[in-house]
Amino acid sequence: MLDLHATTSPQAKSAIEAGAVAVLPIGALEQHGPHLPLATDTILAEGVARRIAASLGALLLPPVAYGETWTSEGFAGTLSLTPDTLRAVILDLGRGLKRAGVRALVTVNGHFGNREPIALAARTLLEADGFPVLHLDYPGLEPAAAAICTSKPAAPSFYHADEVETSMMLALAPELVRMDRAVAEYPEFPPLFGSVPLRLDSFNHTGVFGDPRQASAEKGEALIAAIVAESLLLARLFLARISAA
Ligand SMILES: [Zn+2]
Repeated sequence: MLDLHATTSPQAKSAIEAGAVAVLPIGALEQHGPHLPLATDTILAEGVARRIAASLGALLLPPVAYGETWTSEGFAGTLSLTPDTLRAVILDLGRGLKRAGVRALVTVNGHFGNREPIALAARTLLEADGFPVLHLDYPGLEPAAAAICTSKPAAPSFYHADEVETSMMLALAPELVRMDRAVAEYPEFPPLFGSVPLRLDSFNHTGVFGDPRQASAEKGEALIAAIVAESLLLARLFLARISAA
């Protein structure tokens, strides 16, 4: 793996000539309750992406540290990109990678609101530019969370400042976790949630969805291992497909 953040241009040149693919973590600057930092999604995406890039012998790009977080703007410290801006960032980076001679891009997304802009950028990069993108949204997380975590999720497939994210943070950046400030909250989702635009602070008080107090670094390691294993399965299928094309 080459970490582009710390790599020289000649090193990057040899890796690209040897056929390396690029891995891009995409996070957010978003509230994560009273116990986790605003950069949680970026830190987690980078930690997962680093392990995927290491297994693939890929180029690890510095993370996109802002995401589409309109729903959390009511909480201080959150700073959002519009979906169009995020999509444009992925398009620009993908096109730059293609011009540089990189074969393909794998994105590792750590934030729910980024999913659609990334998927749309991937579609354009393939159709308009002939540049293949595999976009990963923590595959394997849902069954792993159900098997590993002891608290119940606040909603199906909804992991925010809860036991899942807190455990992963304890595994990757424990010095940034304030467990003494962790609180549980199970907000009542309004019936129109998902059907009309709704900011989360209209029905959630602490920024927490679930119970982070049961988190541990061991659980975090197990969750990350499950996500990385499933991501590598998909990445190998993707790479075989583009090599055959
Ligand atoms: Zn998060």
